[in-house]
Formats: sequence, C-alpha cells, structure tokens
Amino acid sequence: MIRVAVYGASGCGRGVMPLARAQWAKTDAPYELVFVDDQPRGQSINGHRVLTYADWLAQPAEERWVSIAIANGTIRERLARRCAEDGVRFFEVRAESVVQMDDVLLGEGAILCPFVTLTSNIRIGKHFQANLYSYVEHDCVIGDYVTFAPGVKCNGNVVIEDHAYIGAGAIIRQGKPGEPLVIGRGAVVGMGAVVTRSVPLGVTVIGNPARPLMK
Ligand code: UDP
Repeated sequence: MIRVAVYGASGCGRGVMPLARAQWAKTDAPYELVFVDDQPRGQSINGHRVLTYADWLAQPAEERWVSIAIANGTIRERLARRCAEDGVRFFEVRAESVVQMDDVLLGEGAILCPFVTLTSNIRIGKHFQANLYSYVEHDCVIGDYVTFAPGVKCNGNVVIEDHAYIGAGAIIRQGKPGEPLVIGRGAVVGMGAVVTRSVPLGVTVIGNPARPLMK
C-alpha cells in the first residue's frame, strides 16, 4: 500500500486535497489518500480520513508521500524536516490549469493551485506555495518556503528570499536585469500592497506604495 497524505486539514489543505486526489487517481498501484493533522477535528473531512502524523506513520506502507499544505512557511519547514527524517517523500501538487513556460526550475514539494502561471527562466526553491491565480514572471529567483496567497502578481526580475509571505492580490513591481527588486528573507507583504522598491529582511509592508508597517 502506498500511503499518501495532505499534511494540514484546514483551509489550505482542503484546497489542495482535490488536486492531490486528481493526480493520484492516475496511479495503478493501491494507495490511500488521507489528511494528516496534529490537531484533528473529526475523523473524516471531505471523504478522507484524518490521522495524526504518528498514527499515519504507524500504518504499514511500501512508500509514503506527503504534500505539506500549510500556509505558514516556518511550520512547513519544520514538518518537512520531520517527514524527510522519517523517509517520507514529497509530491508536487499542480492543478491542470497551471501554465509553465521555458526553463523553470522548481524545488521539491511545491503546490501550484489552479490558474497559476510561471513564465520563463525562473528559479524557485523548496516547498513553494502559489495560491489561486498567482503568477511569477520572467527571470525571478524565489527561495525556499515562500508563500503566495491568491492573486499575487510577481513581475520580472524580482528576488524573493526564503520564508517571505506575499499577501492576497499584492503586486510586486518588476526589477531590472542585474538590479532586481528584492523581498528579503521572512518579509511579509500585506494584502493588496503595491511593492515599488525592495523590502528588507523580516519587514512587513502594506499599502500603495507599500511602506513598512508601523506598530
Ligand atoms: N498543523 C499540524 N501540525 C503542526 C502545525 C499545524 O498538523 O505542527 C495543522 C493545524 O492543526 C491546522 C493546519 O495545520 O489544522 C493549519 O491550519 P491554519 O488554518 O492555521 O492555516 P492554513 O490552512 O491556512 O495553512
């Protein structure tokens, strides 16, 4: 039996599950597709069993595959490390409507939701999440555990460092060849922000034009 799981049974996971289901339905070997969640709220969600990680690992398996469907990149990294230590492999989730052009390198464990577009000459790290209708334009370099909420417009020649979070509907202005616009490690871009200049590491920006959030 191949054991397959969507890790996270909340909003993100429930959006990913139908995509995973469509992909695994093409497999001939016997498999079971479940939700894994460390705080299960019920035994079944949308027709799939919900197990804790420990209970899932206890099920006999020839192979184990997981998609970590949790929007928080820090949690994603922690869970990905744990899964890797336990020999669990990561499958990519890719909606059939995704458009990908030339020379795109995408790291393991990505989730590409419906209507995402990746154009040409793009580098993307591990466990990227691009939610509905997001796009990444030419010559962008995106790090590990980066998260795009729905409708992110990431224009050309932009660098996004590890663990950055880009909110719904944000627009990131294009950089120049050799002079990219840079979103720093762990930075947060608020919903609907229009980012016209680089954002330093760890800073949250909001508004149009996007400015650091004053707490
Ligand atoms: N979760 C988990 N293990 C962890 C951290 C989180 O199973 O170590 C689960 C958590 O119980 C919740 C889901 O991941 O069901 C995260 O859901 P949330 O609504 O916070 O975010 P989203 O679905 O938008 O990523």
